[in-house]
Amino acid sequence: MNHEPKIGFVSLGCPKALVDSEQILTRLRAEGYGVVPTYEAADLVVVNTCGFIDAAVTESLEAIGEALAENGKVIVTGCLGAKGSVVRDLHPSVLAVTGPHACEDVLAAVHTHLPRPHDPFLDLLPPQGIKLTPRHYAYLKISEGCNHRCAFCVIPQLRGDLVSRPVGEVLQEAEILVRSGVKELLIISQDTSAYGVDVRYRTGFWNGRPLKTHLTALAAALAGLGAWVRLHYVYPYPHVDELIPLMAENKLLPYLDVPLQHASPRILKAMRRPANAGSALERIRRWREICPDLTLRSTFIVGFPGETEQDFTRLLEFLAEAELDRVGCFSYSPVEGAPANQLPDPVPEEVKQERQARLMALQATISARRLKEKIGRILTVLVDCIDEEGDVIGRSTADAPEIDGVVYIQKAANLPVGEFAKVRVVDADEHDLYAERF
Ligand code: SF4
Repeated sequence: MNHEPKIGFVSLGCPKALVDSEQILTRLRAEGYGVVPTYEAADLVVVNTCGFIDAAVTESLEAIGEALAENGKVIVTGCLGAKGSVVRDLHPSVLAVTGPHACEDVLAAVHTHLPRPHDPFLDLLPPQGIKLTPRHYAYLKISEGCNHRCAFCVIPQLRGDLVSRPVGEVLQEAEILVRSGVKELLIISQDTSAYGVDVRYRTGFWNGRPLKTHLTALAAALAGLGAWVRLHYVYPYPHVDELIPLMAENKLLPYLDVPLQHASPRILKAMRRPANAGSALERIRRWREICPDLTLRSTFIVGFPGETEQDFTRLLEFLAEAELDRVGCFSYSPVEGAPANQLPDPVPEEVKQERQARLMALQATISARRLKEKIGRILTVLVDCIDEEGDVIGRSTADAPEIDGVVYIQKAANLPVGEFAKVRVVDADEHDLYAERF
């Protein structure tokens, strides 16, 4: 008879929340709890919530309601948990509510309501921990929180100021992941370039050697592990320039996800962004000179309060000049508790939608042109999956999982998932490439 206490787990939200979920699951599994995929089979359910925008709040509250209806014993964690009494007001019967990045608190609540088993099955735990992403790529969170105070964002309220993980701990986790078969490490945080600022770039240790808690040192060490290393949420601070030669030498993936949000100095100021579009253009030009293969991704917000047609035109001009490879665009919507909610001159909804459509149309032509230039090239791809039609779907160095395009590989059904392959690009559209096995 199996007395293993069983936990159901619902993970909502961004990659950072996913990393929290993985840490909690890894610890629970290490203590001998089973993790089951249905409410019926679970003795208790943990819901990791997102509270970033109103739609995410609604989704999280619905998920908690469903777990209560189907199972009855529910512990809530994540960003929504940090938002005062929102959860308890609607769902007073939840067993416990914690904020984000609160692995210890979640475990304590689980122990209270579902005592830990006496004989932990430590040997059942894979050395890399429990990964919710496919085994061949993994998110690696290097810090928590943020020192900026962008007007539209409540992350610092929810997660606090920047706290960098010790450099040795990050590298140890990365090493274990790579040893257990992970081929691509996706480096995430709220502000990757700021890594180490909170500890004044103090010197840590990895495998007995001293190493600064600094993005350049960390990236150089990660580059030596033999996996693809992809950097997300990198603000263009001066020291980011030091990473570009590593990309040109193929040590780091030639890929930078730089969240710029706007290009009009007026709007950037109103947003309280730590950036300036003029210098961003200059940086981009220099980066591409050093590393012509560099893929640049960014996100933008249109319809921020006070955005005039002139501001928006400036943004379009920036995009036309910068020729970014990948662009995400959100139409501004207020987030409960964000300082931007107090700003005058809201942009009417239909104008926001129209600007978003215009921006995406411009970017589609830029993206299509840049992808077309790849026709005929030989690329290395990481095979992600085989779809229902039997087509193989991979990603090149230019494609981050879930947010960018993919490479469809024709006539290659026997390519193994999670392995690298060489392909020749034969066609392209606005977002994706089409290739044959080389
Ligand atoms: S940099 Fe700005 S948008 Fe990003 S997490 Fe920090 S405050 Fe929020």
